[in-house]
Amino acid sequence: MLNKNEQYILEISGMGAEGEGVGRIEGFAVFVPFALLGEKILVKIVKVQKNYAFGKIVEIITPSPSRISPSCKHFYKCGGCSFQHCDYNFELEYKKNKVSEALKRIGGIEAEVSPIIPAENTVGYRNKSQFPVNTDGIGFYANRSHRLVPVESCEIQHTSTHGIIKAISEYMKKYSILPYDEASHTGDIRHVFTRVSKHSGEIMVGIVTRTKRLANVDELVRILRDSNENIVSIIQSINSEKTNVALGEKEVLLWGKDYITDKIGDLSFEISLKSFYQINPQQTKKLYDEVVKLINFTGDETLFDLYCGIGTISLYVAKYVKKVIGVEIVEKAVENAIKNAKINGIENAQFVVGAAEDVAKSLGTADIVIVDPPRKGCDEKLLKTIVDIAPESIVYVSCNPSTLARDLKFLTSNKYYVKKVVPIDMFPRTPHVECVVLMSRVDK
Ligand code: SAH
Repeated sequence: MLNKNEQYILEISGMGAEGEGVGRIEGFAVFVPFALLGEKILVKIVKVQKNYAFGKIVEIITPSPSRISPSCKHFYKCGGCSFQHCDYNFELEYKKNKVSEALKRIGGIEAEVSPIIPAENTVGYRNKSQFPVNTDGIGFYANRSHRLVPVESCEIQHTSTHGIIKAISEYMKKYSILPYDEASHTGDIRHVFTRVSKHSGEIMVGIVTRTKRLANVDELVRILRDSNENIVSIIQSINSEKTNVALGEKEVLLWGKDYITDKIGDLSFEISLKSFYQINPQQTKKLYDEVVKLINFTGDETLFDLYCGIGTISLYVAKYVKKVIGVEIVEKAVENAIKNAKINGIENAQFVVGAAEDVAKSLGTADIVIVDPPRKGCDEKLLKTIVDIAPESIVYVSCNPSTLARDLKFLTSNKYYVKKVVPIDMFPRTPHVECVVLMSRVDK
């Protein structure tokens, strides 16, 4: 039996889903944040469950050769990154294994996983930030908690972010604007959102407030604009709910336009506050190029792009096929997608608002179906519909290997087989990994 508060010597023999080290003591799996595969550590047990436990490093007895010093001073407190304490190759290996392990363990799929496509930049790569604001300041939540760790800089964010955070802090201080207090559901500002176009430099700032009240708005706009001349859009998002969801339903345009424009390859995209847009544009191009590479287009296909966001994949592949239909649940994103088709002169793409699982049935037939769902994966109802549509190929773009594996299990039990699995590092320093999977129909 493992005892809380006792110390043990532990060999780290695996890595967990959040990038923590895992070892075994007396049949217990012990999860230890910041421990690395191959290390021998002295661990203090902090929590014991039925057949697993959590530990804290007391001493690293044999460090991994991949261990390095974190360059970010917030690393051990902030829950944003998991890999600042190992070299990049270690992280890439971890991510590739995460994909193949999930496919095997959850999906029962023994597919060969291609080498992971590495990121060119492991710092400053994010184009979007979403900082919670509360009585402790503006920052990030610590891992698995709602304890806010104030940060004045974040290495993986675009460099413009820090000045914007500073400007908003200044405004709040000067005009006694209250931060949100989750416990009492009082206060004014709940979140600060930024999104920057790496292509045009345009910046959107979103201020999420609890009520529509926001004092001295003109001053807020002035302070923000003085802080960065690339700001082209300042939007107030009102979120009165007791919820973890950051953005509210209602929006007020405080200044400028309600979108920014970015480019992926030759295509331009207008992006609204509420629309999903990949956070690492450099890697997004590689992701979409991989999608194109995997499919053998004849030029005659009908293609469904389900979970299409602002139509990025749809429009990227439109020139290779006869017709594309994109489906997306967020109305604003579909408005963006329709406009994006227009500004890029693309006429063979159409977009439908709705839940993919409800809408797909009514779309007719397709030769290729691309799905790119959020972390929770596809609804089984949608997977059944896709099997009924019976496209020759399915391309599954996933940001979560566990739900990917679950969904592939369904598809491989229903007339499809996995042809190729390509992981891509879109989120350096974090435990997250993106993946593209090509599937074909077995009778093809
Ligand atoms: N393919 C796009 C977006 C992928 S993110 C890109 O590469 O940018 C997933 C998208 O699915 C988001 O835009 C989200 O709003 C949308 N979404 C979430 N649930 C959905 C559902 N049930 N049906 C359709 N779209 C959904």
